[in-house]
Amino acid sequence: MRLFKKKEEILDPYTVERCNSCNKITKRKFKEGDYVFKMTDKCISCGNGHRMVDKIFGEVVK
Ligand SMILES: [Zn+2]
Repeated sequence: MRLFKKKEEILDPYTVERCNSCNKITKRKFKEGDYVFKMTDKCISCGNGHRMVDKIFGEVVK
């Protein structure tokens, strides 16, 4: 049996949003209550689309 001693990593969660009209992708810090496919604010870029949470991921804090 091998033992792996992994250093503990701190993950910083991020939310990626995509506009359903112009497909602009924005990345921001994860906010409480975010989930994939959640509709968020109106797109600032094109003005008529809505942004939707595309994915949520964690980035290792160094
Ligand atoms: Zn847009």
